[in-house]
Amino acid sequence: MLEERIGEKNMAAIAIDGPAGAGKSTIAKKVAKELGYIYVDTGAMYRAIAYYLVTNHIDIEDEEALNTACSQITIRIAYEDGAQQVYLNDENVTPYLRTEETGNMASKSSAKAPVRAALLDLQRDMAKEYDVVMDGRDIGTNVLPDAEVKIYLTASSKERANRRYKELIEKGEKPDFDQIEADIIERDNRDMNRAIAPLKQAEDAVLVDSSDMGIEEVVQAILNAARDREL
Ligand code: C5P
Repeated sequence: MLEERIGEKNMAAIAIDGPAGAGKSTIAKKVAKELGYIYVDTGAMYRAIAYYLVTNHIDIEDEEALNTACSQITIRIAYEDGAQQVYLNDENVTPYLRTEETGNMASKSSAKAPVRAALLDLQRDMAKEYDVVMDGRDIGTNVLPDAEVKIYLTASSKERANRRYKELIEKGEKPDFDQIEADIIERDNRDMNRAIAPLKQAEDAVLVDSSDMGIEEVVQAILNAARDREL
């Protein structure tokens, strides 16, 4: 199995896919730390491209403009104090990636072929070089179809909206719960119904519904799946 992996190196991969707000990044980081693997946040890469598109006022429906923009983008990943940093054309854009504006653009631009093509090799190359826990939407189905462990991590839209709502309250904002849930559902629909690499559970993925599970419980479930595969 390992020898069949793209790149033929003895690297192990855990793919965690699922909708926005399911807790993928929190959980993936903990699993990676526990196993001594690198955590690869592919959403941040899509967000970095989105940041470029927003700041350069690119109309993503203009095919030529989008192609040109994608040909001018270089994304590089580095780790500083164990945390992933995303460099866009040599500028560290990590601090700008978590805004609603960037997230909304990422959700739309990630459906476009040149955007996905710009990131596929980078993601696969990382898995050739390191043992990874990689999270995203199409890791188990498309990026790393031979990953040793595949997890589809989900939770109800109410629970995901609730988590986001609490996060925003803690930041001192005054969020509207119904609006948050509506945005989550809209984002799910876009990710699940796009033509290229839509979000779906890989046939060989383990389904984990975290609606009524604590973080540690989910982490342990994934570590158990990894142990079963002798990782
Ligand atoms: O996970 P995160 O919210 O940071 O991802 C931002 C957007 O990037 C998602 O809404 C999704 O549309 C897109 N994405 C994707 N494929 C991935 C990771 C993220 O299409 N592997």
